[in-house]
Amino acid sequence: MFATLSDRLTSTFKNLRTKGRLSEADVDATVREIRRALLDADVAVPVVRQFTGAVRERALSAEVSQALNPAQQVVKIVNEELVAILGGETRTLRYAKNPPTVILLAGLQGAGKTTLAGKLALQLKGEGHTPLLVAADLQRPNAVTQLQVVGERAGVPVFAPHPGNQGADDVLPAGADPVAVARAGLETARSRQHDVLIVDTAGRLGVDAELMRQAADIRDAVQPDEILFVIDAMIGQDAVTTAQAFADGVGFTGVVLSKLDGDARGGAALSVASVTGRPILYASTGEKLTDFEVFHPDRMASRILD
Ligand code: GDP
Repeated sequence: MFATLSDRLTSTFKNLRTKGRLSEADVDATVREIRRALLDADVAVPVVRQFTGAVRERALSAEVSQALNPAQQVVKIVNEELVAILGGETRTLRYAKNPPTVILLAGLQGAGKTTLAGKLALQLKGEGHTPLLVAADLQRPNAVTQLQVVGERAGVPVFAPHPGNQGADDVLPAGADPVAVARAGLETARSRQHDVLIVDTAGRLGVDAELMRQAADIRDAVQPDEILFVIDAMIGQDAVTTAQAFADGVGFTGVVLSKLDGDARGGAALSVASVTGRPILYASTGEKLTDFEVFHPDRMASRILD
């Protein structure tokens, strides 16, 4: 991901390297190239506008350091502005004062929620937590089984509304609704002293009112400490509209970018933090449970400008 964006920005800076100092025309030409590179990478238009406006203003301002040559100065400014649109500081998971910490996962079908549930559970377990996964996706016939498979691989128990899980008392009647499953999962976490509860919810192929209502009902039932919106970085421009729809319909406290290992342009996903004002907490980079990392805006910016 981001290979083309990275190449385009790097070659823009290369053109500046021979300049002794930058005229306003040089800055404008550079900003134009940056704008084109960002738009071609699918970065959302308002984000591009804000980004290039800030870069132009700063490149022309007196802040420019004498210690750096013009190309280095522009790279530094672009780097800082990239970090800013990616959310600034690294934001880690917020835990509840009184466990269990409840984490709700939301997003479209195929976004990577179930996979993420396993990745997050594995990571938290490695840090000494005792997570419980809850299968509140009852839309897809396979979703519960899929979470059970993921839970098994992570070595983390799964609360699910049918047999095959951690104990007979976990079994809810067939036809249980997802809100009841989530609520019962929370009770189980409390009674068995799991300190983190990760609730997987249903997704649809497109945003729809019923999906939003269901996710909002589950949210109200379990009062999450974090609602993580999982977005497939491969979906291009739709990432921003989808994120906005989830922000309005369910609300979320953080974003997870999934499928960052793909070769799509990815700029839309990079716009999500800026457009919704919510930080990116994690990046998912493959199908294996270990293909997962905490998202650091500064490292991502450096990777893009490498
Ligand atoms: P859900 O419908 O949101 O629960 O999505 P799933 O977790 O079932 O993921 C949908 C598909 O994407 C599955 O085939 C996953 O193996 C795959 N997947 C999930 N995360 C990633 C990732 O980071 N990279 C890649 N390449 N595939 C992923």
